[in-house]
Order: sequence, then C-alpha cells, then structure tokens
Amino acid sequence: MRKYFGVLGVCFFVLQLSAQQKCGSSEYLNKQIGNDPSLRQRIVEIENFSKKKAGIITTDQRIASPLPIIKIPVIFHVLYHLPEENVSMQKIADALAILNRDYRRENADSINTPSFFKPIAADMEIEFKFAVSDSRGVSTNAVVRKYTPVKYWLSDDNVKSNTTYGDDAWDSKSYLNIWICNLEDVTGYSTFPGLDPKLDGVVINYKNIIESGSSTANLGRTFVHEVGHWLNLKHIWGETYCGDDGVDDTPKQSSFTPGCPSGIRISCTNNSSGDMYMNYMDFTDDACMNMFSNGQKQRARVLFETGGARNSILTSTGLNDPSIYSAMLPDFYPKWLNAQVYPNPAISVINIYFDYDQRWLGKELIISDMMGRRVMKKIVSSKIQQIDISKLQPGIYFIKAIKEDESLVQKFIKL
Ligand SMILES: [Zn+2]
Repeated sequence: MRKYFGVLGVCFFVLQLSAQQKCGSSEYLNKQIGNDPSLRQRIVEIENFSKKKAGIITTDQRIASPLPIIKIPVIFHVLYHLPEENVSMQKIADALAILNRDYRRENADSINTPSFFKPIAADMEIEFKFAVSDSRGVSTNAVVRKYTPVKYWLSDDNVKSNTTYGDDAWDSKSYLNIWICNLEDVTGYSTFPGLDPKLDGVVINYKNIIESGSSTANLGRTFVHEVGHWLNLKHIWGETYCGDDGVDDTPKQSSFTPGCPSGIRISCTNNSSGDMYMNYMDFTDDACMNMFSNGQKQRARVLFETGGARNSILTSTGLNDPSIYSAMLPDFYPKWLNAQVYPNPAISVINIYFDYDQRWLGKELIISDMMGRRVMKKIVSSKIQQIDISKLQPGIYFIKAIKEDESLVQKFIKL
C-alpha cells in the first residue's frame, strides 16, 4: 500500500512538472556540470565569495538605500522562422520595462506583498538598458534579428551559435545576452554565473516577450525570473525538498508553488509567515508574484563587487556613446525564405538555391507536371542545384522536396 502511494506521488509530481514547463535553468546547470565537472569548483568558489561577503555586510548595510544603481547593457538576439516569432521592437521595449519595473520594485502589485514580508521586500537597485554600442564602439539598437531555418529550439544552446543557425553571443563580460526564439521544451532557461562565457545569458520563448497591459495570464515575468538566475538567484525551494536557496531571509519551502495561492502556507516548519510563494523565484502564476527579498538583492549585487563573477559588466562600454555610427539595415522579410528558382521561366537549365540551409543536401527533389505526374527525380548535391530541363515539354512544373522539419514546393515554367 505504501509503495502504491509512493508511485502515485511520483506520477503526480511528474505530471505537475510536465504541465508546468516553467523554467529549465536548474536542469541545464546540472547538465553543464555533468559535461564539465571542473565547473562545480568554479560554482563553489562563487558561492564561497557570496557567503564571505554576506558575513561582513550587516543587516543595516543590507537595507541601506540608495545604493549605486548597477546598470547592465542588454543585447537581444531574435531568431525567427515564422513572422510572429520576429517580435516587434515595441514588445521588446515593454519586456525590458517590465524587467526594470520589477527589479526596482515599482510594480503596482507590490501592495499585494503580505505585511510580514514587506520589510524585507527589495528594490534591487539594478537596471537593464538597451546597449547602444557594440564592443568596437559601433552604434547598435540592441536587437539582432535573424531568420533561421530552425522551427523549434530546445534548451541545448544551439540558439547561441551561428553554426547551428542561431546567433553568437556578444562578449558576455560586457553584455547580458537574451535570445528570443521558439523555445519548445521550457518557457525559458538561463545560465548561472561561472559557466562558459560563450553560452552566458538567458533564452526565452518569444511568447513570453509581451506588450505591457497585455490581458493574458502571462505578464512577462518569466523574463524577470530567468534574469534572476543570471544574477545567481536559485529557485526559492532550493531545488530539493526543503532545500537551500543560499539566501537567509527567504523561508525554507518544501517545493515549487503552482497556480495562485493565497493565505499563509506553512511547509518545512518555516514559521508563522509560511512560504514566500509570491517571490519571483518561485513558479507561482505571473499575477501572483511580486517581490524579491533583501537577501536575494545582496546575493545578486555581490556578483558585481571586485572579484565577483559579474564585476566586468561595470566597465562595459556598451552604454557609452558610440564612436562609429552605422545605419541599421532595414529588416526585410527574407526573400530566400523559400528556395529560389532561377531563371524562371527557363528553357534548358534551372538553378535552385539551397545555400540558406545546407540541410537540404542529400534530400530528394521531385519534379511533377500539372497533372501531378512525376517527370524527374534528383538528389540535392549542391547548395546551388542545377537541373537540366531541356527534355521537358513546355508547361508549368512543380518542384517538391521534404526534409525533417520542412517541406518545399516551388513552381517553374518551362518555355
Ligand atoms: Zn527558474
């Protein structure tokens, strides 16, 4: 009987997790450490640095305000396959505004923080700014947009590299990199400090970059949560039953909080105030989270002190006036979204351009006539595939090809 309940409990937990799909950051961290055990030592060093600093900061100093505002230059990489994934500048600006509002505790729903947690609710005194210069001093609007042949992304870092049809990170010592894409397995994931600099940053599903005032349940706080991880904040339940999140003013909590609870929820014998489920580092619904704590503020801010893992951000030139002004290229919808056929109409030879996505190489091309009859078959062997059509009768023909995630149909006219 006991075993039976145990199995049920595990199933329920797994079901909840799969429905949640909220954040992949802790799984990602475990995978990174699994691939490179030396990372564990670096993370321990960062943790020890945090603890050492925490030990010499008094409670009065911790809540003393104002502190110098930490300004972080941000660069967005938008990878889109469909037009709706190419999120507008307005949405990105609103997402950044939501981020700043919550990190400066200017959110209107801060009044919902329970009275017993209000004294420790923090204005993080951290601000996020659109980068205005790249590392060479060339002007930027802080958004790199790229069409990609990839339809779905996973939390495996492919989106962070040109070679896998994503976009390379800007120097993460100087910029917070945010990749926006059709992320399928989780709503977002982030690196913690101390991991590979080329992979450093936040990846977020494009649906979580929303305009402020949006009437959906999604209020853009996935972004707030993921940036929290980038600032070394752990999930508030400490990833395990009654675990440790490295912050002493967040009560121990048994697990994540789904949905939108109310009242006091006591777990892990925390105390009469119960769980701090309205904290941004829980899994509560967006509408029901409204605070960071002073302890989280301290943990995030020590990263920027001398010797801290994100200290180099303070000397970034990303917010300095550019020394070279470069006109941004107009963001045309790519004409090569489908393989182009040239010339068309044609008499003897057509060329089909596959250079936008080399994964077409080795795939089968079928040419059919207007009646659907197959008249020719060819394997794609070149990025610019030539096909001899001299023996075809004049008329309209269709080229069809299929690969794992995409099918192609193009029409051409033989004269
Ligand atoms: Zn998370």
